[in-house]
Amino acid sequence: MTAGPRRVVTPSSVQEVAEQVLRAAQDGERVRMAGTGHSFTPVAATDGVLLLPGRLTGVRAVDPEAGTVTVEAGCPLRALNEALLARGLSLANMGDIQVQTVAGAVQTGTHGTGRDVGGMAAQVAGLELVLADGQLVTCTRELPGGGVTGSDGGDVNLLDAARVGLGALGVLTAVTFAVVPAFLLAAREEAMTWSQVISRLDEFTADNEHFEFYWFPHSEGCLTKRNNRTDGPASPLPRWRYLLDDEVLSNSLFGATCRIGKRAPAVIPTVNAIAAKALGARSYSDAAYRVFTSPRRVRFKEEEYAIPRAALSDVLAEVRALFRRRDWRISFPIEVRVTPPDEVWLSTAYGRDSAYIAIHVFHATAHEDYFRDVEAVMTSVGGRPHWGKMHTRDAAYLAEVYPRFGDFVALRDRLDPERRFGNDYLTRVLGP
Ligand SMILES: Cc1cc2nc3c(=O)[nH]c(=O)nc-3n(C[C@H](O)[C@H](O)[C@H](O)COP(=O)(O)OP(=O)(O)OC[C@H]3O[C@@H](n4cnc5c(N)ncnc54)[C@H](O)[C@@H]3O)c2cc1C
Repeated sequence: MTAGPRRVVTPSSVQEVAEQVLRAAQDGERVRMAGTGHSFTPVAATDGVLLLPGRLTGVRAVDPEAGTVTVEAGCPLRALNEALLARGLSLANMGDIQVQTVAGAVQTGTHGTGRDVGGMAAQVAGLELVLADGQLVTCTRELPGGGVTGSDGGDVNLLDAARVGLGALGVLTAVTFAVVPAFLLAAREEAMTWSQVISRLDEFTADNEHFEFYWFPHSEGCLTKRNNRTDGPASPLPRWRYLLDDEVLSNSLFGATCRIGKRAPAVIPTVNAIAAKALGARSYSDAAYRVFTSPRRVRFKEEEYAIPRAALSDVLAEVRALFRRRDWRISFPIEVRVTPPDEVWLSTAYGRDSAYIAIHVFHATAHEDYFRDVEAVMTSVGGRPHWGKMHTRDAAYLAEVYPRFGDFVALRDRLDPERRFGNDYLTRVLGP
């Protein structure tokens, strides 16, 4: 992410956020709040006032009986996970890393894999946000409109609109998550061949609470991950195994092979075939968030699409066929995940059982041809791009694949008619 803001402010209170929004309006500036900058798109960028999250990171309230936690918008996911575990609670599902802020993760629809529980936004039970006129509103599942009245005089469903809001409807100051009692996950990781995985896809996604797999391009090799609840006791990976697999093989050695692959692309198919086997079978169990997440230290570029779950096998076959037709040499495995439908207007899983296909290249490698051709396959089945990852879609396309897109844009027109929270990316994906 690159941004050229005129002013950078790190607010330490809700009031200060509201003051900054009003001051930006007086100065005729645009304003955006950023998270940790982990998006691959310029979704957080601004040429006006950039609000940084570093002093809005606290845990406000934990209510074990209601099963909710309210944290300030800039709270890093790791801090949230640790605070919850200390109180015997947990998020029910999450993505691959835990360095993002809660607001940043929620606003772009960050997700993991799950049969029963969806992404971060699906677990949001309430939001507090500052609107373009400086007004502070709170929306919950019980009072979805918060203080906002619709054009017909009734409540608008601000919670479902603003959960994945791309920062376009307001600056989030706090997020309330629905949480569950802390639980252990038993992880079972196993190498399989492509045909083994594809022939058993329905079984794996139905039988496991969290199933995902990685396919190593140019090879038959896949790494499957099945995570399910267990009563324990926890048996985490021994430190040496964690260091070998997650730090050395998945990061240090993988980074080195990416650099070699950049200089000598011809070696990539051989390296991928070896890598698929090197990350062999392992089983362990640990607190859920420690199983969901792992360190990612190799820099990369990423495109990810959500497609209808029913199309997954055909789409994967089509992507694999592309590799036969093109002379690409791709080091990074392709990641495949699933989630159930949710009701969040701009969530990639809105209203449909979804499968996610994520493709990556080493940060120093050209991505254009690969991302363009895979994107064409995804869009042929009504795919929805991850809002924080690279894609070339515009508002006209997105209006076709999101049934509530028009409602979102209409709400944006009313809440932010002057586009106080606008930026170039939002102009492309939401319209002027
Ligand atoms: C290594 C890596 C691994 C990843 N793994 C996954 C994964 O497993 N699953 C997945 O779905 N994604 C994944 N992502 C993508 C990542 O989760 C999203 O891009 C996420 O939005 C980044 O959060 P952030 O805190 O860095 O927010 P930023 O990228 O800084 O901002 C994202 C958006 O949130 C808005 N925003 C932030 N704070 C506020 C606020 N207070 N109020 C209003 N708007 C706000 C910003 O304006 C911007 O629009 C990964 C990214 C990386 C780099």
